[in-house]
Amino acid sequence: MPSIAMIGLGNMGSRMGGRLRDAGHVVHGSDVVDGRAAQLGLEPAAGTGAATAAADIVLLSLPSDAAIATAMAGPDGVIGAARPGQLVIDLSTATPGNAARWERELEARGAAFLDAGISGGPGGADAGTLTLMVGGRAELIERAQGVFDVIGSRVFHCGAAGAGHATKVVNNYLNGMNLAATAEALVVGVKAGLDPRQLLEVINASTGANWASEHRFPRIVEGDYIEGGLTNALMAKDLDLYLGLADALDVPAALGAACRTTFTVAMATGYRDRVSNTVVDAIGDLAGGVRVQPDGDRPKDTT
Ligand code: NAD
Repeated sequence: MPSIAMIGLGNMGSRMGGRLRDAGHVVHGSDVVDGRAAQLGLEPAAGTGAATAAADIVLLSLPSDAAIATAMAGPDGVIGAARPGQLVIDLSTATPGNAARWERELEARGAAFLDAGISGGPGGADAGTLTLMVGGRAELIERAQGVFDVIGSRVFHCGAAGAGHATKVVNNYLNGMNLAATAEALVVGVKAGLDPRQLLEVINASTGANWASEHRFPRIVEGDYIEGGLTNALMAKDLDLYLGLADALDVPAALGAACRTTFTVAMATGYRDRVSNTVVDAIGDLAGGVRVQPDGDRPKDTT
């Protein structure tokens, strides 16, 4: 069974690392926050380089392009420690155009690279039912299959290096748009005097139904914001990746820009590091304190 390095032990990395450990892999964990690996019951590594040196397969789950660049190409990075035969898989949501560089630099050291966007959030990571959107050389997927089987239930090979990230970025634009649009619509409906539970039931039986209305808002209107999922800051980052991709391709993305502004408002009004489902409260605040939970069912504190 290949040993694993898990670089980045946040909401997603901790869960995927835990599942791989439970499946019998030795998992060497590394995070800029000291002590995370030990806390999670993973093998603590002295840093990214040490975790890489100890592993057959290196996984990254990091919050930004800058963090990925540090972990990959920094002084204690994956590339410097990589050796022939190793496979490195970036499970972060990141700029598609950077993937070719990681592939090239890892191949120069005899190692290999895949970019793999993941969808399904912390629930999917806990259950091992993530959807994986993979870019890179097709023959590498077989080598990664053992890991993919533990963390996911569907694997799509989307094309060459960067195609996995591009697929994820396009998908997450729609994820953010569904969330922001449904949040705004519910705030309008509640302020118009409608019952939020019934409004949602009607939407979900009608043409307005979408992933957020079907899977997120039935819990949000009961006061469960589904903590642990993507924060507003990370959603904004994903929308920036989408807008960057659209801009590079000369595609006008006016709706994407409006969606980004909605999450900018959430970040600027105190919800930056809260789960992105709280965008509905950010919109509600601007609307004069509207909450989409029926009166009396509101959570006292959703932090
Ligand atoms: P997170 O912020 O919870 O975790 C990121 C972790 O990386 C943190 O523990 C941080 O300390 C660590 N880190 C930062 N820089 C580092 C470095 N240079 N070396 C080692 N560790 C470093 O983020 P998350 O929610 O786990 O998301 C991780 C990635 O997965 C992001 O790109 C996100 O967009 C993507 N993603 C998240 C979700 C979700 O629902 N949370 C779903 C799909 C994809």
